[in-house]
Amino acid sequence: MTIRKIVNYPAEILEQPCKPVIKFDRKLGKLLDDMYDTMIQYDGVGLAAPQIGLDVRIAIVDIDDEHGTIEMINPRLIEANGEQTGPEGCLSFPGLFGDVTRANYVKIEALNRKGKKYTFEAEGFLARAIQHEMDHLDGVLFTSKVIRYLEEEELKGVEPE
Ligand SMILES: [Zn+2]
Repeated sequence: MTIRKIVNYPAEILEQPCKPVIKFDRKLGKLLDDMYDTMIQYDGVGLAAPQIGLDVRIAIVDIDDEHGTIEMINPRLIEANGEQTGPEGCLSFPGLFGDVTRANYVKIEALNRKGKKYTFEAEGFLARAIQHEMDHLDGVLFTSKVIRYLEEEELKGVEPE
């Protein structure tokens, strides 16, 4: 188990587009395992590679539901519908939370750690977490989308992404 160091804002790596993954080897598997351990260590529900200092299109999401850990490599948004507004945080912005409006439903296409293509549909909070992580891969941070920052007493149960 390897906990990687989280890159906090401000940092150049957080605000630049990441490069597609082209090699699906054991190193990639190890990186995904490390990302999972790091996300769990810091009580996050998602983590993107630039948050551990790597400019590659890899992100994971795990909101502790029946879907388990969703490993997204080179993800693409195929469909987005509806709207939801809710609290969001980010492991790269410790202690900062704000309301963000996002699509309520998304369908994505991505590769798994073996390089196999899959599609995945999500709604509600899971869809929110997926959109937050995919934004990271384009250098887009949630703070650019916050409509209202939240006070500490409003934060019960909000986990950073
Ligand atoms: Zn984040």
